[in-house]
Amino acid sequence: MFLRNYAVSKALDSLLGFARTQGQRLSKYGSLFLTIVVCIVALGLGIFAVGDLQVVDLQAQQMYAVSVLGLRHIGELQYEAQETRRSTLYALTTNDSNRQLEYADQSRAADRHVTEGIAEYLKQAGIPQEIAMGHNLEADWADYLKIRDEVLASILEGSAKEAVDLDLKGGVPSFDRVRQDLDSIKRLYDERAAQQLALVDTSSRRSIYRLITVLTLTISFACISIWLVQRSRLAAALQLARLQMDFVASISHELRTPLSVIRSAAENICDGIVDNAEQLTGYGSMIRNQTRQVTDLVNQILLFAATRQRKQAYALTSVPFSQVLDSVTENISELLRDGGFVLEQHIDPDLPELLADPAALTQCLQNLVVNAIKYSGSSKWIGIFASHSTSENKVLIRVQDRGIGIAHSELKRIFEPFYRSPAVSAAQIHGTGLGLALARNIAQAMAGDILVQSELQSGSIFTIQIPVSPESQLRVRAKGFTTKASSTSK
Ligand code: ADP
Repeated sequence: MFLRNYAVSKALDSLLGFARTQGQRLSKYGSLFLTIVVCIVALGLGIFAVGDLQVVDLQAQQMYAVSVLGLRHIGELQYEAQETRRSTLYALTTNDSNRQLEYADQSRAADRHVTEGIAEYLKQAGIPQEIAMGHNLEADWADYLKIRDEVLASILEGSAKEAVDLDLKGGVPSFDRVRQDLDSIKRLYDERAAQQLALVDTSSRRSIYRLITVLTLTISFACISIWLVQRSRLAAALQLARLQMDFVASISHELRTPLSVIRSAAENICDGIVDNAEQLTGYGSMIRNQTRQVTDLVNQILLFAATRQRKQAYALTSVPFSQVLDSVTENISELLRDGGFVLEQHIDPDLPELLADPAALTQCLQNLVVNAIKYSGSSKWIGIFASHSTSENKVLIRVQDRGIGIAHSELKRIFEPFYRSPAVSAAQIHGTGLGLALARNIAQAMAGDILVQSELQSGSIFTIQIPVSPESQLRVRAKGFTTKASSTSK
């Protein structure tokens, strides 16, 4: 007795543990999923922001290459042109022929740099305005060099006065033109640099706005996700608490009711209220029924806990369905008789044997039949039909009732442990919400399953599918072969 009580309390613990782990698993996987989503979204947004920054950086680099380097190049050209001019002027202002020669050489060296610089500028010039300005500069520089060469020749020949006149007349105006050309090219570069700067400015501002939006979105998304995770955790905890309360309430009700009936029957007998044999028989049968109810409940809980912990290893053998059906009808005969039920049964004549554990399959079928009785409403009819599905090679056992039926929205949930339809709880139809979960566990442990079809107010059909036993399969094949052989020999 002590051992049995201990086992029941272990089973109850295990059941509550199951409910708890279900809730925790739900919230754990929900949180994990949300965390992964947050990471993916944050990563996506981060990649987008980095890509955007790279575009702005590229634009800035292009601007630097085109405008800043261009301006530097023009600055160098200006310097070398000035150097050409300056060396010529130095040659004009000295009477030392050696110095004159040296300055002439310096001027020529500087002019080569300018000529090469102009050629380089023309090579990289892209827009028509740039090209036109480059050609202008090239022509004006060539004009100036022509005059400069004449000036240097006069200096080296010793005609200083002639050289000064030549320079004043031709050199000064032609060098002014070169200077103006260089200034206009510089202005053009300045304008382009300003435009590019404005462009980079706009796109970096756009990029900052995008970055702010991305950050705001990421933070909001993370906040919403955290809120959702917390909410789902709270919902799971509430669901668990509700489940525990419902379970404890229904179990204590299912235990207390028969126990108080047994107690009052026993008290009546002890107090001598029962004084004749007929009454005594009535009380005896009442005590037997209630004891059976409590035993069934305890067995149901123990079995469910055992199947959940995968303790249940079924010994599968070849079983004729009639054997299982007989056990079930015997077990529920009283229930049927007391309720005034009609049980219609039909087994296909060629039904092969099943590969099952007879006791477990009896429990599974009995759960469905007891449900059919419990939820039959005003109809007092129950059907049990067994047939062979050759396509699936399974035996199909249908338990049918014409009772209250199940709403479509609930069909998915009725196999969940502890689930009870609110309608049946409200109608005070007792139960633990474990019968179907246990029945399906048993069927699945035997490589089968349970399916359901139901219409509210029309009734339900629960179908147990169990594999055909291999021996029975061989027998069916051999029989088919013999029949074929005998018909051909005729
Ligand atoms: P219990 O019957 O103890 O509540 P079950 O797991 O056997 O637990 O059934 C779960 C729920 O499925 C029931 O509460 C009921 O709402 C619904 N149900 C099961 N069988 C039937 C049936 N034959 N007709 C109508 N509803 C059913």
